[in-house]
Amino acid sequence: MNEQIAVFYQTVAKQCSNAHSLRTICELVCRNLIQSFSVNHLQLIIKYNNEWKLLLELNTKGIQYYFPPIIIPTSTEYYYKNIHYYVNKTEASIDILPNYRYVLIPLKHHSAIIGHLTIAVPLESNLQPKHLTILAALLSAEITAGLIKKATKNHNVGRINAEKALLSSKEQQKSLLSYLQNMHDISFQLWRSNIMEDMLFIAVDEGKKRLNIDRMAIFLFDKQKRMHGTFGTDIHGNTVNEGYFESEIPNQWFASKTLEYKEYIAFQENTPLYHDLQQIGFGWSAYIALWDEDTPIGWIACDNLITGQPLRNYHHQLLKQYGFIVSQHILRLRAADKLIKLNHDLEQRVQSRTKELNKANEQLQKLSRIDALTNIANRRVFDETVMTEWRRANRLGLPLSLLILDIDNFKTYNDKLGHAAGDQCLRKIAATLSQVERRAGTLFARYGGEEFVLLLPGQNQQAAVNNAQRLLNAMHNLALPFPSESKKDKPIVTVSIGVSTIIPSQTTTYGNFFKHVDTALYQAKAEGKDCFRVLSPD
Ligand code: GH3
Ligand code: MG
Ligand code: MG
Repeated sequence: MNEQIAVFYQTVAKQCSNAHSLRTICELVCRNLIQSFSVNHLQLIIKYNNEWKLLLELNTKGIQYYFPPIIIPTSTEYYYKNIHYYVNKTEASIDILPNYRYVLIPLKHHSAIIGHLTIAVPLESNLQPKHLTILAALLSAEITAGLIKKATKNHNVGRINAEKALLSSKEQQKSLLSYLQNMHDISFQLWRSNIMEDMLFIAVDEGKKRLNIDRMAIFLFDKQKRMHGTFGTDIHGNTVNEGYFESEIPNQWFASKTLEYKEYIAFQENTPLYHDLQQIGFGWSAYIALWDEDTPIGWIACDNLITGQPLRNYHHQLLKQYGFIVSQHILRLRAADKLIKLNHDLEQRVQSRTKELNKANEQLQKLSRIDALTNIANRRVFDETVMTEWRRANRLGLPLSLLILDIDNFKTYNDKLGHAAGDQCLRKIAATLSQVERRAGTLFARYGGEEFVLLLPGQNQQAAVNNAQRLLNAMHNLALPFPSESKKDKPIVTVSIGVSTIIPSQTTTYGNFFKHVDTALYQAKAEGKDCFRVLSPD
């Protein structure tokens, strides 16, 4: 208990040293009593204009401060509504009732009773009147001073002279300048934070310290017009994460105008102050909207709960500027987030496009190596392969055989049956003849038009001749009908073939070799077609 008492007094002393008014002192005493001793309800009555009146009350609705003090309502929830019961008590005492333990403390000034403090704590509490002697002295002093101050103030209202006003305005100007410098410093800090959470924490934490605001919180709106907490301030002034908070935008005095007029700052004096929906004091509170162009995206809420300091003229200007700065940083970080996401999306799209492109390229490559009409290797493949094989045969001293095939009288075929039938015929011939020689390394390709080639790396002339014969046989077996004009024409489609074999050497060239095979083909045509001719290189 002693330690609890020590903490209680330390906190109260520290906070009271900053407090600006009796109200603030009463409220923060009340908050600390709740915090330290789980006080359930409380009543502070004082003698005001010779009558007993209620100054401060903690009830189920929260902390209520009344100035001028009010007649004790008959609806008071607790048993101590019978004033006479305790105004006659001159010493502190304890009453134990079924639900609570009441600590009753008279407040004295020069041995005259000026007030009574009644505190209800849980039955198991150890709180004793002696623990609250210092508190009683503090409250007595503050109440007496507060009442005197009020009285002199009333008395002096008309006597504030021009000199004093000038002095205070000079002072205010000086403060404004130093606050502007502070705002500049916060700006720098905000610039340095690249994460939304960090930036909002700094905006609240530094905002309070450097602009001398008791409590500050930033709320952001979503598209459904709900507001979300970010960082805020607890009743002791600590910056806390209020990300848990979510609610409708409240329909209260500050909401509509703040969200309608860009230059507007909602400000109200003598208004109940809340924390987590409980009234915890009384004072001024201000709301400044945050804007994205003409759309409100959130607001900053401020109040003077902790010190009760008055709102100065320059606060308006400062808070407006501050709202603008914080808005800019929220927008900056949102844009950065968007950019990161966009970059990520773009990267993914590029990746998937590259994949598609590679696939398309592969297909293209494949297509460019296959003859579209006949679906066998094309001229390009042949040109590449024949050169490779030529060099290899040259290197290894191996034979290389080449056959050139040309369909006989194909022009007539086309003329008689049409180009489409000609194409169909080409397809069938390609399909059949490409199956004749399937040994690895051999290549059957369409050379162009109605001409085909069969490349036989490592095969000698005999093997080449055998292949030529097999090709002719295959054509006979296929027996595609030929639209014969005369009896001397064969009734089926035939081919003529030129054949040659070479072991490449320094003195031979592929070009000459090809011409050689072509000459052999020419001979086959000349000698009646549907046959092959072999020419040995010179
Ligand atoms: P030869 O026995 O002397 O080779 O007589 P040919 O009629 O076959 O010779 P020519 O070179 O005069 O004619 C070749 C014909 O092949 C001409 C062309 O119409 C036909 N041709 C070439 N390429 C294609 C093709 O892709 N499709 C079709 N339908 N015909 C083709
Ligand atoms: Mg031809
Ligand atoms: Mg021909």
